[in-house]
Amino acid sequence: MNRTVVIVGRPNVGKSRLFNRLARKRISIVHDQPGVTRDVISADIEDGGYTLLDTGGLGFKGDDGNLSLAALTRASETQVDFAIETAQLILFVIDGLEGLTALDMTIARMLRKSKKDVLLVVNKADFDDDKVDLAEAYRLGLGEPLRVSAEHGRSESYLREEILKRIGTVPEVEEATGPKTSADPLCVCFIGRPNVGKSSLSNRLLRSDRLIVSDVPGTTRDAISLPFEFKGRNGKMYPFRLIDTAGIKTQTKLASPVEYFSRLRSLDAIKETDVVFLVLDAIDGVTQQDKAIAGEAVKERKPIVIVVNKWDVVRDAFKKGEDPNCAPEAAIHGFDSERDYRKKYERSIFDSLFFTPGAPVIFASAMSGYEVDRMLNAAVQLNRILDTKMPTAKLNKTINYLTERTPPPAIGGKRFRAYYALQTGNRPFRIKIFCNREEKLTEQYRRYLEAGLVDAFELNGCPIYFELVGKE
Ligand code: GDP
Repeated sequence: MNRTVVIVGRPNVGKSRLFNRLARKRISIVHDQPGVTRDVISADIEDGGYTLLDTGGLGFKGDDGNLSLAALTRASETQVDFAIETAQLILFVIDGLEGLTALDMTIARMLRKSKKDVLLVVNKADFDDDKVDLAEAYRLGLGEPLRVSAEHGRSESYLREEILKRIGTVPEVEEATGPKTSADPLCVCFIGRPNVGKSSLSNRLLRSDRLIVSDVPGTTRDAISLPFEFKGRNGKMYPFRLIDTAGIKTQTKLASPVEYFSRLRSLDAIKETDVVFLVLDAIDGVTQQDKAIAGEAVKERKPIVIVVNKWDVVRDAFKKGEDPNCAPEAAIHGFDSERDYRKKYERSIFDSLFFTPGAPVIFASAMSGYEVDRMLNAAVQLNRILDTKMPTAKLNKTINYLTERTPPPAIGGKRFRAYYALQTGNRPFRIKIFCNREEKLTEQYRRYLEAGLVDAFELNGCPIYFELVGKE
């Protein structure tokens, strides 16, 4: 279950008071920050282990104080729709002093139809219960109403208890959001153009004494998967599985990129791996084909370690005072030292492989074994990052911050607007964003949000998959 509790109700029944009471906040962030529109406000209720949402701002356009009943009804419907889609439990707030209105009836009807778990909260029962008639509330057909006073905190603890009764207490062991965790063997594979050194790197791993290879390679589907162990920087042993994409034993060269891709696909290698090593050639620089291959991994939202192989050649050339004879199309020019060459190579990776935000870059050599350990350590690190949980409130704060800092572009007169976001998985990271319209999110802005979140949650090298749900 998603442990999201959403408050709905028509305006002025005390939704934001109730939200602040449950979130233990004194001031209402809705009204106390003029000029800031918050469609949906969220708070992580730590002792209850759930996320609480107030939808009160959703569905209103501009800050028109005199809305027609039709506009109010539309906004309420948007809010209830949203709640039905996101919530595990809905708190439907009505005003105990004023009594029921037509809008309350409309909301109740929608909620009854949804078959969602609804807790009916009769607010403003401040002191005198006689003033609050529960008979009316019962007639809504949403079960037993709970009388509270958000203003004075009356029945607060009952309400908290009732919420936990409905959604269940906090699970002792946090359920894993992905099929695996970082404790399972880490599946890696090498991808890259022919001749960049994938087989040599694989052989380097399997030959090395820090790796224990079992005699009989296991097979996963039709890909060969070779188990080995690696002693990490902290001295800990990490179980690995190398998924063979290039034919470690056979060394057969494939004739064309098309053939390579079809082989790759048939092996399903990328799908099965946790971390992908994208191998580049130190002399060739980043080519169009490298970009296309990197795109395959990014499509699957797999974390990537970029390995610039054959670094020994570059090193030797500089040692001998020779030019490493960089390919003319490689976009690495005017270097005067190994360090300079490395810097310029890195720059060309940032420029051409910009869609892999924060991916670690390792300059290595299959031939000499240079930095092969570092390569594996980078994979261990990425694998650990994949366990990250993004707290809902921080996630929403970050998205609000990013959209305020650089607002989305207007597409056909309308901008993308994110109402509420929620992490729905790891491996790969999945974030569900409830928004106005999916098609308003441009690819460029999607990348901006992804990079911003990667930065805020330190998810370097791990792509994020956004699942958009349009609500306008
Ligand atoms: P694959 O097609 O990507 O699997 O590439 P291979 O591993 O078959 O390597 C292609 C060629 O590059 C072979 O001749 C290797 O010996 C050579 N090679 C691979 N890695 C290195 C390296 O780190 N340094 C040097 N100098 N040559 C390498």
